[in-house]
This record gives sequence, structure tokens and C-alpha cells, in this order.
Amino acid sequence: MSDEATEEREQAEREDESADGPAVPQEGEAGPHSGAGHGKPDKSAKQTEEEPAPKRAEVSNYEIVEHWFNAAADRLNLPDDVAAVLRSSYREVQVQVPVRLSDGKVHVFSGYRVQHNGARGPYKGGIRFHPEVDLDEVRALAELMTWKTAIVNIPYGGAKGGVNVDPSKLESGEVQNVARSFMDKIEKVLGPQRDIPAPDVGTNAQVMAWLMDEYGKLHGHTPACVTGKPIALEGSFGREAATGRGVVQVFCEAAPEIDLDPSEATFVIQGFGNVGTWAARLMQDLGAKLVGVADASGAIASEGGIDADKLAEHVRAGGSVADFDGRTDEIDPNELVALECDVFIPAALGGMIHEDNAAKMRCRMMVEGANSPTTPKADAILTENGVFIVPDVLANAGGVVVSYFEWVQNLQHMRWTEDEVNERLGEIMRRAFHEVADRGRENSTPMRPAAYELGIERVVEAASTRGYI
Ligand code: NAD
Repeated sequence: MSDEATEEREQAEREDESADGPAVPQEGEAGPHSGAGHGKPDKSAKQTEEEPAPKRAEVSNYEIVEHWFNAAADRLNLPDDVAAVLRSSYREVQVQVPVRLSDGKVHVFSGYRVQHNGARGPYKGGIRFHPEVDLDEVRALAELMTWKTAIVNIPYGGAKGGVNVDPSKLESGEVQNVARSFMDKIEKVLGPQRDIPAPDVGTNAQVMAWLMDEYGKLHGHTPACVTGKPIALEGSFGREAATGRGVVQVFCEAAPEIDLDPSEATFVIQGFGNVGTWAARLMQDLGAKLVGVADASGAIASEGGIDADKLAEHVRAGGSVADFDGRTDEIDPNELVALECDVFIPAALGGMIHEDNAAKMRCRMMVEGANSPTTPKADAILTENGVFIVPDVLANAGGVVVSYFEWVQNLQHMRWTEDEVNERLGEIMRRAFHEVADRGRENSTPMRPAAYELGIERVVEAASTRGYI
């Protein structure tokens, strides 16, 4: 970034910070639970009820992203000082989110917004409501967004946010209060030209509507301040399905790599929320057969196939995967990965494919709908076993691509048709897939290292052209 642009931005931030209202803790400044600063693990107390953790990774999401960044930085011979800038976040905000719940007590949650790198455009990334959210995880996911937006070549930087709350245990009005309180605390670092949130785990179009409304109370009607909004509030056609659709679009490009006909594929989905539901339905539209699926409630399998549309309807109506009544067998969720299939699609949380379960996997391809679902050790095992992996930074970028379309439509106060959105999404996903695949072929590397290299190179070029590094 040029000195002038940096100064202008910092001046704007100083003005924002001097405005009325509580100050937002800034980079290097302690928040209410913070050890503050970069790179330190977050040990802040969680205020939500603790549950026994499912069997998860040997490393954190942050360590997973750092592993791939460091490996790519080495291969690119990135100077240490440049790597140090790209490894750390531009700004990390941690705030207190106090909300009175139906038990009559005020509960204090921790909210985070991390802006990792803004060299290529405004910061962009989802907001997660989940009891395990902490600064380390948000930091990792923000960095992932920087590489992702660069890999699909849309004009954004990377950010992520979250609150360590379990929305499934709250009433709708309470979730609304969490969303509004969080927005009140972080609005000073957001805005259509600065940082634009979107949905992620535990948040949806309704939460985005509350966030937009709260931002609008302070700044006037500003639909471009968040994406993933409902259609009735200037959301984009196609946004809800976009991440799952992008997963399926890249799958279609990847299938020939393993001589697979998409219409004859069998697949398994881990996580049946926004991404998993849409990926399953669209895979089924191709003719592929869903043979196993899990959500947090449990897992089911059927060699004869599970009707993805009916299961999605059942879940939308408030049911869970485990209580789906459709000629399926309930299986141990830990055994889902061992189901024989052509394609395994992780669409739940990070670190679910780890060194203890990777060797059990019997898929030929993995298309990562979730963020950081695979640890580096698991990745090595799968690659060794010949599994073709389409990595998260490419495979699940469909959501941010259509978020970009929503932002563009909002800024122009116009609307594209769903067909236009889906077609443009397909163009971007297909182009990105082949750019990454070609690079992998040139350097004899799998897709993931190739994707990181491409993303990092683009960010370095933007940052150095601005004069930021
Ligand atoms: P969501 O909250 O809609 O769904 C998450 C699903 O995972 C739920 O079905 C939940 O029950 C399931 N789950 C939780 N724990 C599980 C476990 N132990 N085993 C099996 N399933 C479990 O979230 P989402 O928006 O679909 O996001 C899923 C993943 O995709 C996340 O990693 C997210 O970061 C990533 N992602 C989402 C988007 C998006 O647009 N929503 C975009 C890019 C990446």
C-alpha cells in the first residue's frame, strides 16, 4: 500500500476511533480477554457450556494454515521480512459481547474480527457463531481468506470474525441480540470499502439482515456492508447455494483427473449445513449417488443411495441427519470416513480429517467444502494413498465469489438473475481450477501447494506494487 493510502486509511480510522461510543481495541492493544498481539495462542475463558469435543485434529486450524503458508513461502524463496508481514494479521479486534439471556442473567461472550491482509482490496470474510471460536481460529480463517480471494482472483483481502456462542442453544431473539451487540462493537472497522462480513458456521441470511440493520442505524442504509443477506434485503440470487455449487463445479473439472464420470460417482458428505446440503443436492442433480452423510447429531449410510433433496427438506424442517427416516443405516460418525466412495466432501469444521483417521479413508478424491478440514499429516497420508485433493482455498471459494457479486450488485443498486450469477460463478471457478491445476503440473506438485503459491504470489505483487512491502 502506498504511504499516502496508508496515511489516509489510518487517518480515517483515527477519526472513527475518536467518534462517540466505546473504543474498539486496536492492533497490539489488549481487549477484555486478550493477551493481544500476533501469534500468541488465545487462552480466553469460554462463557458457553462446554461439551465433550469430537475426535479432532492433532494441530489447530492456525497451525494447518501456517504449515501450508511456510511451505509455499520456502518454495517461492520469499524473503523472511516479506513472509513475516504476510504471516501476521493487519488488525485483530477482540471485544466483549454481553447479552441478557432468557435465564435473566447477562452472559458475556467473546467476539473477534481479524483483518489479515488488504493489499488486493477491502477485507472480506465470514462471521462464525460457534462455542469453540477463539482468536487463533479466527486468525487462521482470516489468513485463509487472503489466499482464497487471491486464488480465485477477486478484488478483496482476507478477514474473518466470530463469537464463541452456541446459537443452537439460544432463542432467535437472543441470537439477534448477540448479532447486534457484536456489530455495535466492531462497526468502526467495517464498511463497504473497508471490510465486508458474510455468513459462516452458525450464521445465515437472517443474521446478516440483523447485522446490516444494526450497521444502518449508525451509518444509514448500507446494503453493501455485509453479503449473504436475504433476497428481500438486496441479497443476491444464488448466494445461499454458492459455496456448494462452487464445490460441485470444481468437482466436475477435477473428475477427469481420476477418469471419473460425475454422473456415475458415489459420494459422502461430512456436515449437512449450508455447504453440505447444497453440495449434496447439486451432486445428485448430476446423477451422482450420496452413500453416506453426517452432521453433529450422527451419521447415516446406504449403498443404495440417500435422497439428498428429501434429507435437506427434513433438516430444513428442523430434523437432524440421525433421525432421517429414509431406508438408511445409522453408523458410528467416526466410521463415516471409512465408507467406500469416489468422492469425500468435508463440509463441517476444521481438522476433522487427521492423522488417526486419514489412513481409513477409501475415497479416490476429496473436495474440501469446509475450511482446513485436513491436517498436514492427513494430507500426506492421503496423497501417498493416491487421493486427489481439491483444497479448501479453491474448492469452497464459491461463497466468497457470489458474495463479491452481491457487493457489486449492491454498489450499483441493481440485480442479476440467478442464471447470470451461476454462470459467472462457473466461469471463475473453472478458470481458477485450471490455473491451479496447470501450475501444479508445471511444478509437479499437488493442487494445494500450487494454490497457495498462486495466491501468495498475487498478494505479494499487489502489496509490493502499492509500496506496502
Ligand atoms: P453450517 O453451520 O451451516 O453447517 C455446519 C454443519 O456441520 C452442520 O450440519 C453441523 O451439524 C455439522 N457438524 C458440526 N460438527 C460436526 C461433526 N463433528 N461431525 C459431522 N458434522 C458436524 O456451516 P456451513 O456454512 O455449511 O460451513 C461448513 C464449513 O464450510 C465450515 O468449515 C465453513 O467455514 C466452510 N465454508 C462455508 C462457507 C459458506 O458460504 N457458508 C463458505 C466457505 C467455507
